[in-house]
Amino acid sequence: MLAIKAALEARGEGHRKRVLVPSSAHGTNPATAAAAGFTVDEIPARDDGRVHLDDVKAKLGPDVAAIMITNPNTCGLFEPEIKNIADAIHEAGAYFYCDGANYNAIVGKVRPGDLGVDAMHINLHKTFSTPHGGGGPGAGPTVLSAALAPFAPVPHIVMRGETRELREHMAGTQAFGRMCAFHGQMGMFTRALAYMMSHGSDGLRQVAEDAVLNANYLLARLKPHFNAPFGDRPCMHEVLLDDSSIKPKGVETIDMAKALLDEGYHPFTTYFPLVVHGAMLIEPTETEPKRELDRFADVMIALAERVNAGEVEFFKQAPKLTPMRRLDDTRAARQPKLRWRRGENDAATKVAAE
Ligand SMILES: *Cc1c(COP(=O)(O)O)cnc(C)c1O
Repeated sequence: MLAIKAALEARGEGHRKRVLVPSSAHGTNPATAAAAGFTVDEIPARDDGRVHLDDVKAKLGPDVAAIMITNPNTCGLFEPEIKNIADAIHEAGAYFYCDGANYNAIVGKVRPGDLGVDAMHINLHKTFSTPHGGGGPGAGPTVLSAALAPFAPVPHIVMRGETRELREHMAGTQAFGRMCAFHGQMGMFTRALAYMMSHGSDGLRQVAEDAVLNANYLLARLKPHFNAPFGDRPCMHEVLLDDSSIKPKGVETIDMAKALLDEGYHPFTTYFPLVVHGAMLIEPTETEPKRELDRFADVMIALAERVNAGEVEFFKQAPKLTPMRRLDDTRAARQPKLRWRRGENDAATKVAAE
């Protein structure tokens, strides 16, 4: 977003401040735009979970700087109008930022540049097997189109024929700034590169195909037991269910997630995307064999049957087998305890005592 800002300023259009963001976007998108000094203009969701060219066109104007789109999107769907949207954005003098979080579904199949993408970040922990969560070490490359490349921050590597040259200083460049710790965590890049090289280009294509196949297999098995808001068509690498069929029976998304903990599963993504109420977003990835997918589907179906049998209390009591039971997530976020002291009246101590 800072490269986009620099590119706009370089052509004397620094007045372009409005960034279009669909309501299905991850919160990091509007947050990034706002942090970079832009204002965020939301494109409202439609019932089919997609971004429509008409809705984008209706928002275009001389003050639009960029659009931020996730593709495949957070509803687990490929955006079929993506190229036309990119063309309309470029025609209006703006840039196309792609949130690459769902690249796993199309890696080796699609070149983002061919879709008209000007900038995209690649979440190494989602596509190239680096560790996820625990507060880091998060790091990943951002790729830029020819239009934005001159504004990339230093230091970076420039190809000169067969040789690589380290460009370290801003003088004589249009770089928007300097990365204070180069580009992040060296170990992350080494691991991601090793993953790419061990797969090769054909293997990475199969990563996408297997991830999408696995998700569609789960969709087919779970659809008869849960509401799948976009289950009328194939999904990409994520299956989106919601709790609308179980909530009237007293069990919601959070209860399903907690019950899964007792079954030994790290739960799906809960309550995201926000445009689908009670979302349960399941990402099996390319690595699970059919046996494991079946085991997971069997567990989910057995839980759905418990809902139908009216076993609400079973869900409200979950998780029973974890060291910590239900946590007060809101309080944990508002009043974080940054040090654990033996004997303080927290839940962990009580569990330990029991
Ligand atoms: C996970 C995710 C992000 C955030 O990426 P992190 O690197 O995990 O913080 C952004 N957008 C979408 C669509 C995501 O799924």
